[in-house]
Amino acid sequence: MQETVRPLNVIVVGAGLVGFAAAAALRRQGHRVEIYETSSFKTELGAGLAIPPNTSRCLVGLGCRVPSLNPVENLCFTSMAYDGSAGMTSDSTNYEESYGMPWLMVHRVDLHNELKRLALDPHGDGPPASLYLNHRVVSCDVDACTVTFESGVVRQADLIIGADGIRSTMRSFVLGEDIHIPPSHTAGFRWLTNASALEPYSELDWIVKTPPLGARLISAPVPSKLSEGPRKIDHRTIVIYACRGGTMVNVLAVHEDLRDQDSVPWNAPVTQEELLDFFHDYHPRFKRLLTLADDIHIWQMRVVPPLRTWVNKRVCLLGDAAHASLPTLGQGFGMGLEDAVALGALLPKSTDINAIEARLLTYESLRKERVEFVARESFEQQHVPAKRGLYLRSSEMRDKVMAYDVKEAAERVLSELENPRGD
Ligand SMILES: Cc1cc2nc3c(=O)[nH]c(=O)nc-3n(C[C@H](O)[C@H](O)[C@H](O)COP(=O)(O)OP(=O)(O)OC[C@H]3O[C@@H](n4cnc5c(N)ncnc54)[C@H](O)[C@@H]3O)c2cc1C
Repeated sequence: MQETVRPLNVIVVGAGLVGFAAAAALRRQGHRVEIYETSSFKTELGAGLAIPPNTSRCLVGLGCRVPSLNPVENLCFTSMAYDGSAGMTSDSTNYEESYGMPWLMVHRVDLHNELKRLALDPHGDGPPASLYLNHRVVSCDVDACTVTFESGVVRQADLIIGADGIRSTMRSFVLGEDIHIPPSHTAGFRWLTNASALEPYSELDWIVKTPPLGARLISAPVPSKLSEGPRKIDHRTIVIYACRGGTMVNVLAVHEDLRDQDSVPWNAPVTQEELLDFFHDYHPRFKRLLTLADDIHIWQMRVVPPLRTWVNKRVCLLGDAAHASLPTLGQGFGMGLEDAVALGALLPKSTDINAIEARLLTYESLRKERVEFVARESFEQQHVPAKRGLYLRSSEMRDKVMAYDVKEAAERVLSELENPRGD
């Protein structure tokens, strides 16, 4: 007897940016989604996030209200030499003209709130997802399609999605083994400064006052005095851009990390003195910005190596759990968002529960090669000197990453599956 097709019951593990995006994409197809999140959201990470055109295309397609993101449009990249010498180059690509979508810069909390609205809003398309905070998933039975929480409670679903980030619990149940995410020897100092704090210093006008607005990159391809022994910190770049309607300035100072990354925390506070010491040889106009920094953290960044699979029965991974990358291309969230849009397109309302596993494998084959390319490039363009800045130099690479329309690609694959003879 044929099973009646009904909306799927979906569990999403993790209410980060990508978990909410997956919930938003699936509820729009009429599915019933429950999101389980370990934290209580009391402290949300304050930082900026780049939204290149492929990412903004997906956000708009999911119904995102762009003004709610308080975006600043990225109209150019300006590279400067650390010592203030000549060597400034500016790439003023018109992203909107080239790709039909702008490159935006936003505050993560604004983006998280908007994705949360898209998932939970009772007035949105499809049944609103339900969010359960303080629910840590500790295990998953892929045969029974269940998750177990710390409390011992078990929940069953038709489909389970692991969107639980780079240190995923779900990954080991999908793979059937634990894997170590290797150190990348890359870290970044991260902080936000109110744009008003820059007002008294005319030497900082180039950050948010001098048009065109966009990301500023200040690179030092020379060893730092902090280097010890045979290894050298031979590359430091400070990336600066405005967000939240131009009222905040986001700073990420990426550098080689000589610490034993497995034996230090992934995220730890640092003092302004440590920061200034690290960039001791930067020109005074750049160091001025550093003297305005507070609440600074050092973040380790790692790349999830290519996984054997992202799918086991009716359980799958997406976002950082499957393929975290370095922020070199500003594509970490974008790749997870594309995963979410692809899953939504491949699992329309009419999907039979018996078809889920095959659809998840289609999702994996649509996504894996592209995402692993981005993750590999994010690492190599940070670590291989000849490849640094390639993303900005190569229009071919930019086209490959930013012109892509994942919804269109997923819908084409689905239509080929449903109509293999192309009638
Ligand atoms: C310094 C830095 C700069 C970046 N800049 C950019 C950028 O400019 N553009 C861009 O696109 N990307 C950027 N990224 C990458 C981007 O931040 C990530 O790719 C993205 O946030 C991943 O989202 P996620 O939802 O997959 O994972 P996460 O944000 O890690 O969310 C996972 C969620 O799952 C929850 N969770 C974990 N375990 C469990 C469990 N067992 N049970 C229940 N819940 C659980 C967590 O509490 C968390 O809320 C940057 C990353 C870094 C480190």
